[in-house]
Amino acid sequence: MTSPNPRPFTYIHERLTCSGADLTDLAERFGTPLYVYSADAVIDRTAMLQAAFAPLPHTLCYAVKANSSLAILKLLAAQGCGFDIVSGGELERVRRAAPNALPHVVFSGVGKQLWEIDAALHADILLFNVESEAELELLSQRAQARNKIARIALRVNPDVFAETHPYISTGLREHKFGIAIERARDVYRRAAALPGIDPAGVSVHIGSQIRSVEPFAESLQRVRSLVEDLRSDGLNIRFVDGGGGFGIEYGTAAFDPAASVSAYASALCRILDGLGAHLLLEPGRFLVAQAGALLTRVLYTKQNGTKHFVITDAAMNDLIRPALYQAHHEILPVIATDRPAQVADIVGPVCETGDFFARDRTLPELLSGDLAALLDAGAYGMSLASHYNTRTHPAEVLIEAGDARLIRRRETLDDLLATELT
Ligand SMILES: *Cc1c(COP(=O)(O)O)cnc(C)c1O
Repeated sequence: MTSPNPRPFTYIHERLTCSGADLTDLAERFGTPLYVYSADAVIDRTAMLQAAFAPLPHTLCYAVKANSSLAILKLLAAQGCGFDIVSGGELERVRRAAPNALPHVVFSGVGKQLWEIDAALHADILLFNVESEAELELLSQRAQARNKIARIALRVNPDVFAETHPYISTGLREHKFGIAIERARDVYRRAAALPGIDPAGVSVHIGSQIRSVEPFAESLQRVRSLVEDLRSDGLNIRFVDGGGGFGIEYGTAAFDPAASVSAYASALCRILDGLGAHLLLEPGRFLVAQAGALLTRVLYTKQNGTKHFVITDAAMNDLIRPALYQAHHEILPVIATDRPAQVADIVGPVCETGDFFARDRTLPELLSGDLAALLDAGAYGMSLASHYNTRTHPAEVLIEAGDARLIRRRETLDDLLATELT
């Protein structure tokens, strides 16, 4: 049995499509570089995760930072998701895209500022994931001043090693995140004594793009013991926030998202069985990465000595993952060709050697004017875009029932320069 294609990008009569929409047509209508997302793919992934966790009362709090575009947030809220935010800016995005989801927001982050805490208290969010004692004290003061009770979870650092890129691993003592789990019981005791604070949950997040179940299981096991200890200390712990981080396959290896999610869910459900806690999860990448691609046009090709370069109109400022994490993205020609294979570096126009999408990649020869799709770009793509080299942000389209809807117009130079003074 071959595993199903985990991506909504398929060739129909040699032309690459996204859930029925022809990418060549989209490039002509909307220009390039262009982010293209399949709404159906996002909906499928969400339903898959929700079904797998059906044995436990749970809420998926989508991690806004993975792809924070308003239309994506609105789509996820319509599927019943809450949100995991890490800033007041992300809170504002939720307010604009899905105000009804505010009671299902969890607020994570090591450096919450006063105005951000105030805004979240005002919005009556579900839970603050508190990462230090100093933050706990500030939150207590602000809650008291506003006559509010802030539900909190301490984000504990379980000291579990998650095999992923070091920049996206967060669950070891040496990382800046969370409170060491051995100290947590004491800190909860202090929290319980603070006015305006309701210690309602325990939270953990060990990193991102984690492909095996064991580190999640190991850290959740430690969280369960802590919950039991805290309850014996008299605390009313109702929520376990298991964080995000569930990974995908970026390469060509077989990947069956439903099967991998079901392994993840059954391990977690087994560990939490009988605890009577409401499980919160903060998936980002798993829900949106494979739903999206970055569509780009080849500007030039050139040969430097033995190296062949394909220069595209997209660059590291549009999709920084290869430059930042040495991340791999599959690249497909938008019109299937029988041109001979060629080994090339696929690079952008930005003045940095790190501005590449692929090195020494074997692809059918790409020529000036061709279109190519960088796959799995739905997460940590647009949300990490910058203006480096004074390049404007790409446009984004969402494919719904075969039709493309512009969800972010292409930025203009006037937009980009609007905040500057001479
Ligand atoms: C980034 C982040 C997530 C989402 O991680 P994914 O790998 O995209 O699932 C969830 N929770 C917290 C606290 C995060 O920082």
